Amino acid sequence: MSQEYFVHPSSVVDDGVEVGRGTRIWFFCHVQSGSSIGERCIFGQNVNVDRDVRIGDGVKVQNNVSIYKGVTVEDDVFLGPSCVFTNVLNPRAHVERKAEFRPTRVGRGATVGANATVVCGHDLGEYCMVGAGAVVTRDVPAFALVVGVPAARRGWVCRCGEQIAFENGAATCSACGDAYRLSGDRVSLAQEAS
Ligand SMILES: [Zn+2]
Repeated sequence: MSQEYFVHPSSVVDDGVEVGRGTRIWFFCHVQSGSSIGERCIFGQNVNVDRDVRIGDGVKVQNNVSIYKGVTVEDDVFLGPSCVFTNVLNPRAHVERKAEFRPTRVGRGATVGANATVVCGHDLGEYCMVGAGAVVTRDVPAFALVVGVPAARRGWVCRCGEQIAFENGAATCSACGDAYRLSGDRVSLAQEAS
């Protein structure tokens, strides 16, 4: 019986890993035991998935990314090349801190740009976009575009990735037609483009 997912011979998938159908794991990756990867994901080169990590469906992970224990990746997330996660705030080589992992959630549809760093213990809201090289040191609201060091909000983005501008609390994406509302500092989808 053929596998319903692909693992390149240079990669190692430990026992006790769930991989969904249609997922492709390319060169020199290591997926550690207890983790699960959803359907239709693509892992580039040199990706490490730590023990007990949960990764949703349709996730794309570019080259040189380590997803450590404590990080949860929801459906349709894009992790850019060489982006960095952490799981301990104050690591010391000589102090055991495994009980002090701080969880990081990457919400559905979110993008983490190339070489960005996500300091542990923060929540990346759905469809947010973290710019290349940004350093995330606080929660990122859904649909927010954040850039810089430390990352600050520069605007808002649509599910499709285009920037959207609010006027009187409402915005429509010029690229795809999705409509949004802004209430306080929260953006929500008001109407999907038909
Ligand atoms: Zn759009």
